[in-house]
Amino acid sequence: MRDHSARPAGCTCDGSGWTFERTDAHPDGAMVQCTACAIMHFQRQLAAVSGLLPSELSICLDDVAPNGPDTALMVRMARQFCEEPWGIWSIWGSYGNAKTMILQALVNHFRNQGHLAIYMRFTDLLDYIRAGYKPDAPDDARERYARIVAAKCLAIDEVDKPRLTEFAVEFQATFLDDRWRYGVEQDPAIRRHTLLALNHDPAGLPGHIYDRLRDSRFGCYLDVDGADVWYPGITRNMDSSMRPAMPPRQPGGEPCK
Ligand SMILES: [Zn+2]
Repeated sequence: MRDHSARPAGCTCDGSGWTFERTDAHPDGAMVQCTACAIMHFQRQLAAVSGLLPSELSICLDDVAPNGPDTALMVRMARQFCEEPWGIWSIWGSYGNAKTMILQALVNHFRNQGHLAIYMRFTDLLDYIRAGYKPDAPDDARERYARIVAAKCLAIDEVDKPRLTEFAVEFQATFLDDRWRYGVEQDPAIRRHTLLALNHDPAGLPGHIYDRLRDSRFGCYLDVDGADVWYPGITRNMDSSMRPAMPPRQPGGEPCK
């Protein structure tokens, strides 16, 4: 028996990943891949690369209990990002103040809407692409790059790992440039959104990358005492370290709003 309970929202197949459909191109019918299942499979594959726990795949914004003003602001901006995502949002600052949880919660938000959304640490992303250069790789580096760079929501943690190789530096610039181009796209259907978490001020990144991140189109308005205040797309969080106030909810629980 196939486990139909695990089928994602929007699944059109019987759980096999394929469905028989008649289309204009194939009036007699043809086997068509189920998009929802293909996305789910790819996300699981990448979660395995990143070593994500199943519990982390169900974190939502309600799980983040702010312990300081910076984290509270971060959560407000995250809620705004759900409503009106703005392209690239970079969060930087000290360890342990829920930056990672915010990234994971937003990725889950986009997933619940049926989008391809990915959370990865930068080094895992590098390893994943690099593995595509091995002769026995089932898909080559270019295919891997193309699939990841097109994700509707991409969250990259630990972007500013020190001591990057030449390959990594070049990859970082090209990749973030491509994501920036997606982030400023006018058509909402084509537009893509990127979340970056860093431990240090992104001003320390190479100038051309920093310029992309601080694009004046990135950011949001929040209501402060009845006035609309603009918060740019680079956010500093210097709250002290904290533990999540409660354990992440169990997989299979109610999806987050
Ligand atoms: Zn399906």
